Amino acid sequence: MASLAQRLPDNVPGDFFVDNTCIDCDACRIFAPQVFSDKGDQSNVYHQPETAEELLAAEKALISCPTASIGSVTKQDMRPALAALPELVDDDVYRCGYASESSFGAISYLIRRPSGNILIDSPRFSGPLVRNITAMGGVARMLATMFIPAPRPSSCSLQAAIRSHSAMTCS
Ligand code: SF4
Repeated sequence: MASLAQRLPDNVPGDFFVDNTCIDCDACRIFAPQVFSDKGDQSNVYHQPETAEELLAAEKALISCPTASIGSVTKQDMRPALAALPELVDDDVYRCGYASESSFGAISYLIRRPSGNILIDSPRFSGPLVRNITAMGGVARMLATMFIPAPRPSSCSLQAAIRSHSAMTCS
């Protein structure tokens, strides 16, 4: 959970902020480029959300931050953002969110196919994400584009959970 006491001074005043635990992975800037920007070797909020679209994007970025470095001063209703991930980016390609610190915040994608969905790299485990991916048909196969030196519990747990929900196989 982001700490208000560790709020970076480069954030513009307002509700959303980035704290000093940011690892500069870029995830927030991908999900909400209208709110977050690159400031040196960390991110900051350069524009507070004003529209419903900007607020939803900022909330998806908050959920997706691998280090929980994004916070808001007031309590947000996160249900719309939880329901909006994975988000459609092009045709049958979806961006999962829920980046994992063990992959330095790499973005994972879900490709929907009639022959079975493919998960490109692994997000961190999250019950809402598992449920949403299951509702989209689950995962038939996973493609890892990163070198993984040792089994990662979060990845294994996510695949196992999706498998048990969807009765499909991962390979
Ligand atoms: S997603 Fe989190 S860790 Fe990554 S750049 Fe944004 S604030 Fe930093």
